[in-house]
Amino acid sequence: MRVFGCQMNAYDGDRLRTAMVHKGWEETADDAADVVLLVTCSIREKAEQKVASEIGRYEAGYRKTGSPVVILVGCMAQRVGAEMAKKFSCVRVVSGPRHLGFVPQGIDDALSDGIPRFFLDEDPRALEDLTVVPTERTNPFKAYVTISYGCDRFCSYCIVPHVRGRLQSRSREEILSEVETLAASGVIEVSLLGQNVDAFGKDKKDGYGFAGLLRDVARTEGIKRVRFYTSHPKDFDEDILTVMAEMPSICRAVNLPVQSGSDRILKEMNRGYTSSDYIELVRKIRAALPDVALTTDLIVGFPGETESDYRSSYNLLRDLRFDIVHTAAFSPRPGTRAAMMEGQLDARTKAERLNEINAMQSAIALDLNEAYVGQEMEILLDGPAPRGEGLLQGRTYTDKVTIVSGRPSDAGKFVSARIVRASRWSLEGQVV
Ligand code: SAM
Ligand code: SF4
Repeated sequence: MRVFGCQMNAYDGDRLRTAMVHKGWEETADDAADVVLLVTCSIREKAEQKVASEIGRYEAGYRKTGSPVVILVGCMAQRVGAEMAKKFSCVRVVSGPRHLGFVPQGIDDALSDGIPRFFLDEDPRALEDLTVVPTERTNPFKAYVTISYGCDRFCSYCIVPHVRGRLQSRSREEILSEVETLAASGVIEVSLLGQNVDAFGKDKKDGYGFAGLLRDVARTEGIKRVRFYTSHPKDFDEDILTVMAEMPSICRAVNLPVQSGSDRILKEMNRGYTSSDYIELVRKIRAALPDVALTTDLIVGFPGETESDYRSSYNLLRDLRFDIVHTAAFSPRPGTRAAMMEGQLDARTKAERLNEINAMQSAIALDLNEAYVGQEMEILLDGPAPRGEGLLQGRTYTDKVTIVSGRPSDAGKFVSARIVRASRWSLEGQVV
């Protein structure tokens, strides 16, 4: 299985793995697999190109030996899966993100009769989801839980509402029962996922929204940490802040994508707020949660972005000083409004702006991380660090990656560590 893109895809991958294992399948290395499952992303052109080249590689093997068969699911499958199946004979099952419930049986059927299966989301409100709790996860102590599907915001650059459909919140009972099952299986940290978690419940009439859900999840026995991704500045409200301030198990980390610092561009993007609305919201969040780590997303080179629009983005990031900024050069996505706008910028201008912003942000990130040096932090250990024997990697409650010495069997434990060194991306600590 290969998972591309966002955490929602990681969650879908974990659930598909669990459903396939329940059916008697066994996971193996990709190059030894009879069936390769690709959970795909469409957010930028590059994300799709990566998957297309992977399929090309599998196709060569399939033509020679009849193996592996490729199962294409997720956003790219929804957007161009039918085309890909025409071009590559190894693609035998195609499913959009709202029809994953049909995939496990579809794989068995397609393999037994040789007829490809297509489960595409024609109706943006239809939902045929997998009903399994993802017990076959990469990390036994942490789990994702999707709380809502789709998005209604239709930002002019974004493919998500076109491929993931309209907002549909899961029921409170379903989510809480999933969290309880996960806690019973040893999970201590859950991350609640949605394209816009703050919109949770807004498609229903029972008044139960994200703040209420956050409180209920944080109260679940056995759950020690709760995270959530992603917030939307238009929907993030004070009730959420109140619950965060009240419940120590809710991590002090908020991802609040700004996308641009120019009011004119924000309007063209259809974001629904101005830069001063955004700045005021950041002020409120920092006043309520002084130790919060704030991260954001920013697009440079949106159609018509002038040097002065770009400077507004640069200045906003310089002044607000985020812990992390996920930057991207605008990528026109077919079918979105922004892809057809006049004033598309050339690749070079976009790259120059991206490089300049990234360089400034690196310095800010290092500065903020260095402020942790000398502090004692509680770290939840994930497992071995990618580099260095005898080193473990974990995270602070502000979501900072922290490296400490330890044994692999310490994974899943909380330790107290004094931070001794900082880099742009991580902290180094000594267990005390
Ligand atoms: N829902 C979140 C929000 O409201 O910002 C973002 C979700 S989107 C899946 C993740 C990120 O991809 C966005 O924050 C945006 O920065 C980036 N993105 C989306 N469409 C893009 C495009 N056409 N070109 C470049 N980046 C894009
Ligand atoms: Fe895309 Fe996020 Fe806008 Fe929804 S709110 S359309 S997911 S960028």
